[in-house]
Amino acid sequence: MQLSLFDLHCDTACEMLAQRQPLGENHLAVSLAQAQDFTQYIQVMALWTDPALDNEAGWQRLRRMHANLLADPAVTQGRARMCGGCPARAPGVSLLLGVEDARVLDGRPERVAELAGLGIRILTPLWSGETCIGGAHDTRAGLTAFGRDALREAMALGMTVDISHASERSADDIFALAADAGRPVIASHSDAYAVCPVSRNLHPGQIRALLCAGGVIGINLYRRFLSRDGEATMEDVRRHIEYFLEQGCAGALCLGCDMDGAELPPDLPSLGALPRLAAYLRGWYPEDLICDLFFENAFRFAHRHLGAPQ
Ligand SMILES: [Zn+2]
Repeated sequence: MQLSLFDLHCDTACEMLAQRQPLGENHLAVSLAQAQDFTQYIQVMALWTDPALDNEAGWQRLRRMHANLLADPAVTQGRARMCGGCPARAPGVSLLLGVEDARVLDGRPERVAELAGLGIRILTPLWSGETCIGGAHDTRAGLTAFGRDALREAMALGMTVDISHASERSADDIFALAADAGRPVIASHSDAYAVCPVSRNLHPGQIRALLCAGGVIGINLYRRFLSRDGEATMEDVRRHIEYFLEQGCAGALCLGCDMDGAELPPDLPSLGALPRLAAYLRGWYPEDLICDLFFENAFRFAHRHLGAPQ
């Protein structure tokens, strides 16, 4: 059975730098060696910086992470293609860039254009706590004035803004900004609050708002977002999928596995295990739905909103 994958979120770029691992073959959750079963594989690589670093050190770290990825042998030898927009439908591996936790902008508006210049296409503005951008999921705060200006600018530069990690108020602020800008909103790596009530998961109103805003939702494989006791398996992934389908998300549901940034279920330990998830889901859903979930929904979205590769 042919299977393509478009994954909306991983933290592999951070781990590649921190653990000095190449993309081709490594001991991380994501590697090209583990992607061999996919006909086409498109991966959004999020550049995330540890909050232990202050904003300025985080910004420098982000630049190093970006440079490290571009200098990786898999990229320089063309086995993984860096894309500034949606790649064409063709076999092979393509990488798109995101930034997770835009606090590293550090109140400096000119950095938004610098991110665009680095090829960042997806912006996950928040991560934890209150920052110069606004409040994350563990707070009640909305966006700051700087956060609103920065996200307006990011949208104007064609970036897609992500509500994963946002507080409810920040998410509302993002929806309002995106509506003004005529831009979609996504939740790149979040599950359903109704199935697992943690602050990182999506409320029914947010799911409706994402659908209205033309967005997509990436199912996160982090054990504690899948099940309350953290003892998650593929069955819990299916429970979230089932709930999202009941909410009318068949055309918007994707994967945002959060690999190399999350503790994964024991039966889904790495990228190479995802074909097994597809095989499991074939026991429940038609092949079309599995293709939509693994690839087509994200591909359609990217084609429409991320532009052609540059
Ligand atoms: Zn995250």
